[in-house]
Amino acid sequence: MAVRAKLAKTLRPLLRKFPALRKAAGSVDVCSDIVRHAAAAVLPQIIQPDPREIYITLTANCNLRCVGCRYGRDFMPGSQLSFQVVRDLLDDCKELGIKNIRLYGGEPLVHKDVVRIVEHSAGLGLNTLLTTNGILLKEKIDDLYKAGLRSIGVGFSGTGEDYNSMCSDREIRSRAWSEGLPTRGNGTAWMST
Ligand code: SF4
Repeated sequence: MAVRAKLAKTLRPLLRKFPALRKAAGSVDVCSDIVRHAAAAVLPQIIQPDPREIYITLTANCNLRCVGCRYGRDFMPGSQLSFQVVRDLLDDCKELGIKNIRLYGGEPLVHKDVVRIVEHSAGLGLNTLLTTNGILLKEKIDDLYKAGLRSIGVGFSGTGEDYNSMCSDREIRSRAWSEGLPTRGNGTAWMST
């Protein structure tokens, strides 16, 4: 892992200039990970898995009701991880050398401790990313930024009728529209600050 990290650090500036080479290097990296993890399953005493990223589903609650999604409806209703559990998990991630933390839901911004969680994660030096439907972004973005969040993915499924057909809650829909927010669906647009 240390060798790969050093190699990546050395090559990164060069690869930035050659996007095709960068893409190819990324594919090789992913393939080597797949092989390594497959081998680790067969020979756990000799080869250890080397996870670099985890997804944490902070909550099953959601403030949207997208078609085809059961979060916020009948999937684990009301379930969410406490701050203490997430904090300990993040501490373990740091100790294990995991670099990227992706905060998910449901909708992670409805978790009452999301800012504290981001603060703890960023404070540990973990690369922290959050995926959201964007509804609460305006009111939370300043606190999240202060807490150290620099990357956000916002689900986007289009506008107008495209959006109406995805989100079945009229009241929420009109709020999202009036605030000019992107709306959830097929793709995710990543923003870094
Ligand atoms: S915003 Fe995401 S979690 Fe919420 S209902 Fe839509 S797809 Fe499901």
